[in-house]
Amino acid sequence: MDTEITKKINAGTLIFQEGEPGDCAYIIQSGEIELSMLVHGRHSAFATLKKGELFGEMALIDNSFRTATATARTDVELLVISRDYIAKKIELSDPTVRMLLQVVLERYRDIHARLHEVSSSLKEHEKDSANSTISSFFKQYLSLSSKLASAITKRQSSGGTSDKINEDLDLTSKSVTRENNIKNALQNDEFELYYQPIVNIAQGTVAGCEALIRWNSPTLGFIPPDQFISLAEKTGLIIPLGKWITDQACLAAQEFRKHRDIYMSINLSALQFESESFIQDIDNAVKNAGLSNDCIKLEITESILMSNPELAEISLNKLKAAGFSIAIDDFGTGYSSFSYLHRFPIDTLKIDQSFVNAMFSNERSMEIVRTVSLLAKNLDMKIIAEGIEDKNESLQLDEFGCDFGQGYLYSRPVRYDEFIELLKYDSLPVAC
Ligand code: C2E
Ligand code: CA
Ligand code: CA
Repeated sequence: MDTEITKKINAGTLIFQEGEPGDCAYIIQSGEIELSMLVHGRHSAFATLKKGELFGEMALIDNSFRTATATARTDVELLVISRDYIAKKIELSDPTVRMLLQVVLERYRDIHARLHEVSSSLKEHEKDSANSTISSFFKQYLSLSSKLASAITKRQSSGGTSDKINEDLDLTSKSVTRENNIKNALQNDEFELYYQPIVNIAQGTVAGCEALIRWNSPTLGFIPPDQFISLAEKTGLIIPLGKWITDQACLAAQEFRKHRDIYMSINLSALQFESESFIQDIDNAVKNAGLSNDCIKLEITESILMSNPELAEISLNKLKAAGFSIAIDDFGTGYSSFSYLHRFPIDTLKIDQSFVNAMFSNERSMEIVRTVSLLAKNLDMKIIAEGIEDKNESLQLDEFGCDFGQGYLYSRPVRYDEFIELLKYDSLPVAC
């Protein structure tokens, strides 16, 4: 089911009412909104908001009630920002920003409550004291409310403003749209796993494959994983997405293994690795596919390990004890602290493609590849060279004792059916 992200509303329509619980905020994309409050039983307008302005955010942020009524003054188009979206943004924001936001909100609510109290007590005397004090009080009340209501979003405009407003609106709009699309993408089956062979360099035979996700969005087009994985991580969507990837990859592995005895390598993101249910999820995925855990290699980057080494150690030991293989992805590009090589139960080092690509143009890269190959051998680990694009690279790697490789020389990542075709070769025909 699609989540609505824009709303068209006719002039005069009530959008929400003071005192109602709030479940979303809005950014005005076109038209005008009037905010009003009940004063003496009558709606008194205190602000008119225009394109680029945010409203309805208070109830959303602190889970409380709408402090004003919003009505469309003209026909309006609104971008809807859901409670979930805001909650995740707040959760992921800097703690100082979170604290400031909380304090500002509490103060706003406090002033608002006091104003209402004073307003109610004055109301009782209204009839017999229709004097200037009261009318002056209400003027101040409405003026202060107006300032408070727009304080968070008010942009100081000196004449023609709209560039910054449009830029912010555009960025927010894109972010909300992408996030919304990524949620729908999972429901609408827009993701697909591709598979790239991992080859025994000396023999050219396929030893395993790496599952690599692709997103073909009908509205946004093809989006490469390095653009949407980070978005999925930021928003927490990587958890259901990661589970989907693991399930699919295990089912594919079960089919591939009917043709050849190969393993499946699955990339893990930081959030996935840290989630409590992850080990159980992957264990279930493997069992549901009728596989055993030793057919699965899990790829983790150095930065994931080093961001929380204590947790990483516990999780990796559990995974190892359950029979999974563990590979360090992009080896050499992260912390490169050798201490983790003996601290964590690692089976495989995947030497990053930047070193492989630069081998013949940069002596130091050549030396790094040679040394890492030797290091892996001495530590009884497997080594996979990534990004092998030409035959000379594969020959050099073979000479260094690097047993396995992956790269366009052998095959680009391919669809499920194509991968099965590729498994029919005893050894892969290389591209040059
Ligand atoms: P990675 O894990 O390092 O994956 C290898 C990347 O190198 C893939 O890019 C692959 O297509 C590309 N590649 C392979 N051989 C060659 C070559 O010979 N030359 C060049 N230039 N590139 C080559 P891709 O598929 O675009 O993935 C990019 C990154 O996105 C991956 O880097 C990984 O960090 C992330 N990613 C991809 N799929 C997943 C996934 O299922 N889960 C997670 N958490 N991350 C994923
Ligand atoms: Ca990888
Ligand atoms: Ca890699």
